[in-house]
Amino acid sequence: AKRSGRNTFAGFEPGMDTELKLRRELEADLAKVLERGELSLCFQPRVSMKTGAIICYEALARWNHPERGLIGPGIFIPIAEQSGKIDAIGNWVIREACRLSLDKLSGAPISVNISGHQLRSRGFVDNVLQILEEAKFPPERFEVELTESILVEDRDRALAILKAMKRRGMKLALDDFGTGYSSLSYLRAFPFDTIKIDRSFIMNLAQDDSSLAIADAVMNLGRALHLSIVAEGVETVEQLTILSSRGCDEVQGYLFSKPMPADIVPREIEGALAE
Ligand code: C2E
Ligand code: CA
Ligand code: CA
Ligand code: CA
Repeated sequence: AKRSGRNTFAGFEPGMDTELKLRRELEADLAKVLERGELSLCFQPRVSMKTGAIICYEALARWNHPERGLIGPGIFIPIAEQSGKIDAIGNWVIREACRLSLDKLSGAPISVNISGHQLRSRGFVDNVLQILEEAKFPPERFEVELTESILVEDRDRALAILKAMKRRGMKLALDDFGTGYSSLSYLRAFPFDTIKIDRSFIMNLAQDDSSLAIADAVMNLGRALHLSIVAEGVETVEQLTILSSRGCDEVQGYLFSKPMPADIVPREIEGALAE
């Protein structure tokens, strides 16, 4: 085997036993996460470059584990996907995001991340519509964020589902753009409203010509297709300045706000975009 890092061999690292054990443990705990009320949502504002107004809030799931503390979605969402728990968790996320928007955020538009398993689950569109209806949340203020990989598996079915969602007034965003298959034909065929440029490109915007070239290309493409372009993971004024000069429509990132509980997430952005 090849050495792949300190004290690790590819596929045979000494920590794997415990890692597998931890995974199994989390998987078992995840089965009861909803009934135990251990999940919560944070919200992160998406800000208009032109006006500084908050366009919408992205809902991001958090797991407050009784023994292990806060666990991020990067860890538990993949486990939920593999264990089949993602549909129940995903429904909860939609319901809770609607409730919190209406209760705490004056009914502001929200966006929710959807995994492939959810999208392909039976009756997904009707299921979402029913949750929105029960919550009395207008579909026009509800956006789903999907990654390219979801569209590639079973393209025709995914296309039909997304078209049905559009017909019912919901909005669609293509998340993490530039990291996946990046087939440009998808962008034309699928009825997206928004493209989110992946944080990895924004991160290196000021240092790296190729990141800037890619971000530029995405923004030009977005304009040509009349899509709204969001830069995610904006952390510095320097990045903001570059994005602004290139005509990026919306920005999201720690520069404006980290994801926060609905009670304390900013209701407006001060100063950050002032000339
Ligand atoms: P994502 O949809 O790409 O979300 C953006 C991630 O970047 C979030 O991590 C957010 O906290 C982080 N972020 C935002 N601004 C900045 C910044 O300026 N700098 C840095 N360093 N990070 C920033 P988070 O909350 O850990 O979520 C990770 C991923 O988990 C999300 O990536 C999304 O794919 C997934 N996820 C989160 N909530 C849900 C959910 O309810 N359902 C599903 N299916 N997936 C979810
Ligand atoms: Ca997202
Ligand atoms: Ca993203
Ligand atoms: Ca991501």
